[in-house]
Amino acid sequence: MDYPFFQVQHYIDGQFVDGGPRFEIIYPATNHVIGSAPEAGMAEVDAAVQAAARAFRQWSRTSVAERRLILKQFAQLIREHEAELAAIETWDVGRPISENRAGYIPRIAANIEFFADFAATHGSEAYPMDNGYINYVLRQPVGVAALIAPWNIPLLQATWKMGPALAFGNTVVLKPAELTPIGTWRLAQLAHEAGLPPGVVNVIHGFGPNSAGEFLTKHPDVRLISFTGETTTGKVIMTVAAATLKRVSFELGGKGANIIFADADLERAVAISLRSSFFNQGEFCLAGPRILVQRPIYETFLERFQAAAQRLNVGDPFDPATQVGALIAREHLDRVSGYIEVARTSAARIVLGGGRPELPAPFDQGNFLQPTIIVDVKPQDRVCQEEIFGPVVTVAPFDEEEEVIAMANGVSYGLSAVVQTRDVGRAVRLGAALEAGTIWVNDFFVRDLRVPFGGMKNSGIGREGGHYSLEFYTEAKTICLSN
Ligand code: NAD
Repeated sequence: MDYPFFQVQHYIDGQFVDGGPRFEIIYPATNHVIGSAPEAGMAEVDAAVQAAARAFRQWSRTSVAERRLILKQFAQLIREHEAELAAIETWDVGRPISENRAGYIPRIAANIEFFADFAATHGSEAYPMDNGYINYVLRQPVGVAALIAPWNIPLLQATWKMGPALAFGNTVVLKPAELTPIGTWRLAQLAHEAGLPPGVVNVIHGFGPNSAGEFLTKHPDVRLISFTGETTTGKVIMTVAAATLKRVSFELGGKGANIIFADADLERAVAISLRSSFFNQGEFCLAGPRILVQRPIYETFLERFQAAAQRLNVGDPFDPATQVGALIAREHLDRVSGYIEVARTSAARIVLGGGRPELPAPFDQGNFLQPTIIVDVKPQDRVCQEEIFGPVVTVAPFDEEEEVIAMANGVSYGLSAVVQTRDVGRAVRLGAALEAGTIWVNDFFVRDLRVPFGGMKNSGIGREGGHYSLEFYTEAKTICLSN
């Protein structure tokens, strides 16, 4: 197998630079080293933040039309490099290239385009008062934004944060996850080529605690933090951010329910459940790994879902026929496998998978896990409560609507849910009753970028998307005009 070698660098003040010790980048499908990246220390983080602060003076005053043109050029370059970015994302994450090409990569450019247009077309509020005064609202950029991304969907997260931050006039220091630095480094090259002025976008690499992540969140000149990652990390960042009263937006973990009523279209329910269970090897915050099926169709659904999951091709992520790729790292594979072991020692039954697939070299060295289905679980079992973040799902029966609402809401997370039914009234009732930021009815992972995105409970704080992003990434100022 031919491996590339990515010599990743920081991007600070318009320059690609080294700085700090280098760490290895590992291809999840074979555990082969495919590059290295530098770990930013305090000096590099400070240089990036200072560059962003200097650039803010100009970028915040650049006309919206001009910003839009540059961002559109950036999006255009992303589109022109879609095939390359799809491959890079697979080297970074181990996700099947087929999933990247099918829908994932086109969303990257769309994130930038959407916010470039949104910023250029949104209006503001004005309130003429009875006494002749006029109050109006100005929305102005906040300053330097720290954007911290997880490893599971790196390019989607990077652009989802950069798009609104830049379009509304902020400058950014972006830190991708240490496990997936390649794509964001390549994005920085495209941003540079698109003509984003030096310092407007900065990318630094490194780890979280006592490394680039912590130094960035502690930096006094960072005014806002958009963070996506684990709930426990969010709690740490919130404490750190409190010291300098930074504005925060958190997109955290999930443990979505996928609720299938007896009247659902069964074939479609199986197809949706395959995606919501195994997209990105189940390493997906929005996944629906708790499948709850109404009793009259429980056995039939389970049989068909199990048969369909068994047919999924697991293996070489660059093979266009592959549907399930490798988990991000060996430690993560061990962690996910640990949940399967916990299930084995309980009353639960593993009806599919549960082990490593047999793959030819070099993929026998990769972090692959068979799609795994666990049944006979109790709602309080750890596999039903904790975010596993792998291709492992539970399937359980229910009888009544009220019962399934309680089951779905009976976790600490509240990010997303799937409801499958042909009864519109029931869909409306569940939409209101479920504790989740996004609820899909008879589908999965479809979203208009204008709607609020975020989670309830332990799944996050705040919402982004459309004018929710405008609110987060701008200061609202009231001007009262006298007559
Ligand atoms: P993580 O919390 O370990 O790391 C996320 C990022 O935070 C990384 O860049 C990491 O280096 C950095 N980081 C870690 N500790 C830090 C600290 N103390 N200070 C500053 N930065 C720090 O998360 P992960 O394992 O990379 O990602 C998986 C998690 O992300 C899952 O829980 C998943 O549900 C969640 N996620 C949520 C969404 C969403 O939209 N809600 C989307 C994708 C992923």
